[in-house]
Amino acid sequence: DSDDCVDQYFTSYGDLEVHKLMLEDEPRVTIYRNAILNNKAYFRDKTVLDVGCGTGILSVFCAQAGAKKVYAVEASNIADIAKDVVKENKWEHVIEVINERVEDIKIPKVDAIVSEWMGFYLLHEGMLDSVLFARDNFLKEGGELFPESATIYVAPCSIPSLYNDWDNVQGVKMKSFAKELRLTKKGQPEILDVKPEELLGEEVAICWVNVREDTTADLNSFKLRHVVGASKNGNYQGLCVWFECNFPQLPNGTGDGRVVLDTSPKSTPTHWRQTVIVLPHEQDVEQGEPIAFELKMTRDPTSSRRYNIQLSMLSPDNIDHPLPCSCHYTKC
Ligand code: SAH
Repeated sequence: DSDDCVDQYFTSYGDLEVHKLMLEDEPRVTIYRNAILNNKAYFRDKTVLDVGCGTGILSVFCAQAGAKKVYAVEASNIADIAKDVVKENKWEHVIEVINERVEDIKIPKVDAIVSEWMGFYLLHEGMLDSVLFARDNFLKEGGELFPESATIYVAPCSIPSLYNDWDNVQGVKMKSFAKELRLTKKGQPEILDVKPEELLGEEVAICWVNVREDTTADLNSFKLRHVVGASKNGNYQGLCVWFECNFPQLPNGTGDGRVVLDTSPKSTPTHWRQTVIVLPHEQDVEQGEPIAFELKMTRDPTSSRRYNIQLSMLSPDNIDHPLPCSCHYTKC
């Protein structure tokens, strides 16, 4: 990445509105809170590194859980607010806010790393690289990571907001408008709320990220070739992408079972919503009909914070052969 790119990335996180959106995302904050506060037995007297502390909320949870020292590292200007939040909550004796990139700091090794690094479709923004750097440089052997794993899922779906909603606008057909509207999207994935009933088939995992072990190279490309039976009659118009994150299940934890942050259409909506890769041409499907596709996600060689996503429809009879004229290329 050029320095400009890096600066731009951190400037965007200086914006209070971005943090407002994240703080108001109740499932997001609740899940982190539970993952940390359900494990007081673990956090007691531990040292913690919060990678990208933002307003400092996760660091405060760690302090509340009994951590003896929290390094709250934040590269953007929001670090100033984090310092105020720490004071406001009277945790200055535990939380140290460090206004630097985690790649540039020097701290002793810690027992645990907490971080909220997830972007749209999980990997957008590429912040996980910084967490892996932190793990390799600052996490003690056997230390814990919050979250410790994540999975990206995909499922065929219909997209009424780009298709069927326009068949009748107060009695007027607007299909030609909808077609132009889709063209203006230029193949960019759409970030929108998919309703559970808009899913047209069971989801399949395209990748599983092991935050404890993966290297940045492991995150460079993912590919999936898959056939799924349509769960009902409908209009297959795109592929819905979402993710799930798993937090460690530790001895003497309270709460029931593993804490999971699930951004599926079937879960309570989060600010990540869902990412939808729009097909160039819709396809009517009948219940049970096979839907075959190939999805590739490859890190952009010129900008590690971006991925190129390529969706190809395949012939269900021979999934090794892409259907003619149905390839779709998306850069995001
Ligand atoms: N932890 C906060 C903010 C999450 S957003 C919360 O849960 O509300 C991610 C934050 O990480 C952003 O504020 C961003 O500026 C910061 N960040 C991303 N990469 C970083 C890096 N390499 N070093 C330090 N901070 C980083």
